[in-house]
Amino acid sequence: MTTFAQLGLSPARLHTLEALGFEMPTPIQAKAIPIALAGTDVIGCAQTGTGKTAAFVLPMLERLNLREAHSALILAPTRELALQIHSELQRLAGSKEPLSVVLIGGVPLGPQISAIRRGLPVIIATPGRLVDHLQQRTVKLHSVHTLVLDEADRMLDMGFAPQLEKVLGLLPRQRQSMLFSATLSNDVTRFAQRHMHAPISVGVAPSGTTAAKVHQRVIGMKDDMKLPLLAKMVSEEPGKVLVFVRTRGRADKFAKKLGRLGENVGQLHSDRSQGQRKTALDAFRSGHGRVLVATDLAARGIDVTDIALVVNADVPRNPEDYVHRIGRTARAETTGTAITFVGGEERSLWIPIERLIRQRLPMEKVDETDPVLKSMIARFAVADAHKVHTSTTPKHSHPGGGAGGQRAGQSFGARSSFRPRGRR
Ligand code: AMP
Repeated sequence: MTTFAQLGLSPARLHTLEALGFEMPTPIQAKAIPIALAGTDVIGCAQTGTGKTAAFVLPMLERLNLREAHSALILAPTRELALQIHSELQRLAGSKEPLSVVLIGGVPLGPQISAIRRGLPVIIATPGRLVDHLQQRTVKLHSVHTLVLDEADRMLDMGFAPQLEKVLGLLPRQRQSMLFSATLSNDVTRFAQRHMHAPISVGVAPSGTTAAKVHQRVIGMKDDMKLPLLAKMVSEEPGKVLVFVRTRGRADKFAKKLGRLGENVGQLHSDRSQGQRKTALDAFRSGHGRVLVATDLAARGIDVTDIALVVNADVPRNPEDYVHRIGRTARAETTGTAITFVGGEERSLWIPIERLIRQRLPMEKVDETDPVLKSMIARFAVADAHKVHTSTTPKHSHPGGGAGGQRAGQSFGARSSFRPRGRR
């Protein structure tokens, strides 16, 4: 096993790592750090939870001149990820003095402009907001000699290619570039070829590899079974539960309905303000609210280490999102479970996921005779009773969203097998 000292980090850095309790480098750190310390461009294929942030922050800190303004630029797809990188940078630097200015959307430009003027060594930004600043000429990038693109695949998926091209076009050619991505799609590879100089690729999670320690389950069901089954799982799981749904509207609906169980349920999606998202994430991190319902974009890069259960209440449309979602559990030293609900119209979405992860998971069925599940069905039915009364035909809730819904009576089976918690 390689140690941090063998990677070539300085004694001061080793001291900080020891104080943080980082005993051994993770595989992506062991591979990427020596290359990055040598000043070479690096492409790291790693998902969140593998220690990828430290893999670029540690060599960056070693090479950074703290007195030089804006000498490093880190681009990330979401505000949450940008803020997490900011706090990880402070932690790994072991410094109380702020090292970075964070330029993210959803907050006023004014305070960011003042912060830019402080001339801190690192800029951490989302592409859209950085371009806003460039257009207003409130930031210049001519002194950047280290560039990090974090979650590059996601930035491209989110349509940030034009902003990235603009930003990269303004950077000095003489620089070190590091690109991290959970998946190395053709888009990412082409982008890297255009903008990086003889990069060395390192990877611990080739495209489609799911975190080995995640126990994955998949359950076929009628769409109107999703909410009661989720409620049952939440009530039986004492740890943190992260729920993924397809749309903002569904995140709101699921969070409100689960909230009726007496849980403090947070929501993370793009209809929420920056403040609301931060409150939800802080509550989830601290355990004050142990259930969080999120959409893919908003949840990207969430760094919460002790998520016990990830429930995909809707099958992701993009198979690679599945890998990202389930990577939220079984972080660092823990194991976790990821359960995917496959509704009536979602089978065709599940097949490409199995192809991507190169695994066939047994499709479980719902035990509709399970007493806890029955009581959850009854609870939601009572609450929704007035809607049924005002309708001419009994109306089931339609968690299938845009997928077209589920015909009443269609079932993937009545007998099943809910394994008691803890048993695999
Ligand atoms: P990341 O993949 O960068 O989001 O990191 C996931 C979590 O693992 C973060 O909370 C890090 O602080 C933590 N971490 C990163 N590297 C190590 C390490 N070598 N030993 C222990 N924890 C680590």
